Amino acid sequence: MPLLSQLPQVDKILKEKRFEAKNHIILKKIIQDQIALLRQNLIDSKSIPDYENILQNIQKSYEQLHQIDSKPLINATGIVIQTNLGRSIFSPKLLVEIFPLLSQYNNLEYDTSKGIRADRYKSIKKYICTLFDCEDTIIVNNNASAILLIINTFAKNKEVIISRGELIEIGGSFRIPEIILSAGGILKEIGSTNKTHLKDYENAITQNSTLILKAHQSNFKQIGFTHEVALEQIITLAKNKGVIDYYDVGSGYIAGIEGINEPSLIEISKLKPSLVSFSGDKLLGGPQAGIIFGKKPLIDQLKKNHLLRALRIDKFSIFALEATLRAYMENNFELIPTISMLKQSPQTLQDKAKKLFEKLSTIQTLQCKLITVKSKAGGGSLPEKEFPSYGLSLKHNTLKTTILNTKIRQKGLIARIQNDCIILDIRCIKTSSFKTIKNIFSSIDNEK
Ligand SMILES: *Cc1c(COP(=O)(O)O)cnc(C)c1O
Repeated sequence: MPLLSQLPQVDKILKEKRFEAKNHIILKKIIQDQIALLRQNLIDSKSIPDYENILQNIQKSYEQLHQIDSKPLINATGIVIQTNLGRSIFSPKLLVEIFPLLSQYNNLEYDTSKGIRADRYKSIKKYICTLFDCEDTIIVNNNASAILLIINTFAKNKEVIISRGELIEIGGSFRIPEIILSAGGILKEIGSTNKTHLKDYENAITQNSTLILKAHQSNFKQIGFTHEVALEQIITLAKNKGVIDYYDVGSGYIAGIEGINEPSLIEISKLKPSLVSFSGDKLLGGPQAGIIFGKKPLIDQLKKNHLLRALRIDKFSIFALEATLRAYMENNFELIPTISMLKQSPQTLQDKAKKLFEKLSTIQTLQCKLITVKSKAGGGSLPEKEFPSYGLSLKHNTLKTTILNTKIRQKGLIARIQNDCIILDIRCIKTSSFKTIKNIFSSIDNEK
């Protein structure tokens, strides 16, 4: 019998009773992939598994494909806004609030009193314009989209003036200079890495300049022999020269945390900037979004740019943002986990850490210590600010720390290693996760 004739027929497998209820389009693809593998096996080793084994493999592949890969994790890193872990998280209460909007038709772009099409941003506008005392707002997909839209609308083939100290990279290969170029702007760098003066801005403005961009340094801090021009001066200069001032604030802090060494969006908005943009899911603690506010004639022009259609925010995010902003209106930080996690008092953190300590101390194989640690805001926000916190330092009696760390990570607990110990910062861990954490460590011992 020729070798390859031992391969089973796709159609025969498809007709097997056990596959009757499966999606045959997906099943066929899996069978074809399996047979391709078997063909290679036959050529290499002249043998293949028996028919029943082949069917079981196909079934296994089919089931694996249907497994849900996205899963919740426990963030024990003490970094509140972690882009890799989904940035800001939502309060279940807030999700309940928006659930009826998502599971039913709604007035996303509809005016029920007049029966006509309405602005997608109308529900957000009253909150943004009240919080920031500004003329108008527009919301896009994320802050990168906001930069793209603003530069493309006002500075296509025109000069964008920006300090060399602000040509920043945010992470994930996102860089301000590249985005200016992609948007069609001409980059006009001024000053030096550490110092830029008002006269650098003044001297740079020509007939072909339309916009001064000030970008928040976000994820790093310059110290020593440095100088940057205050936003207030840039706004005045822009007004006098007839160009637009645009401040990319990055994270955008509104309120709720004490001891922060930078102006809040509310203070920034008092300077009446032409345009400001910031992220929805960094310190604001909402969904992914790019929030733009400022002067109405400029926002009107943004709304006319055809690119907006490609950058617009979807309904999930707009409703979640609306609910987040409503929580700010009421100073209800309980509904904004990013803020409430940063606000926790040392006493609360210590009490929480003690409770987890008591739970984990009962595991014989773990050496567990209660320690003080320092949390971070993360997400390129407040890079120099440390938030004192409590946590646990853990060592296993037999397992190497790096191996223990891999095991707990694979079970959904994300920690860090310091001085050859696992460190769990209590700040972003919910009390309701304590039992799971204990089970994770116990299950590792049961596996050995
Ligand atoms: C984070 C950040 C961005 C990008 O914002 P996304 O919402 O992630 O697109 C842009 N500019 C600055 C200064 C930032 O900090």
